[in-house]
Amino acid sequence: MEVTKICLVCNFETETVVHCLTSCGLARDCWQWLEVSVILPGERGRFIVWLEKILSVALGVEVEELIVVLWHLWFNGNKILWSNENESIAGIIGATYSCLKTWRDAQVQNENRARGRRLHSEDK
Ligand SMILES: [Zn+2]
Repeated sequence: MEVTKICLVCNFETETVVHCLTSCGLARDCWQWLEVSVILPGERGRFIVWLEKILSVALGVEVEELIVVLWHLWFNGNKILWSNENESIAGIIGATYSCLKTWRDAQVQNENRARGRRLHSEDK
């Protein structure tokens, strides 16, 4: 299978990490929708430099949202490539919060299990 170098989401710009995750229309819409104040790196910016800068100033909850949105934006590109399905912004945001809820619920369960094991070992 030949993979195009044109962004599959907008079918216009060259597909780069920065473009797909920050400056493509769908990505920009997601960042605008989030209440995290994300300063986008621009087409010529380096993704890793931008990500390190954002992670150094973002709060814990914002970091979780940011990482999950990035993952869903990337996953959306793969869905277009492999199954010709393209998510809307509502789909990306909905999937993001569903994923975050599942992850956060799992964290609470893990903490409760760990607390239960500590209490159980203190009883012995
Ligand atoms: Zn694009």
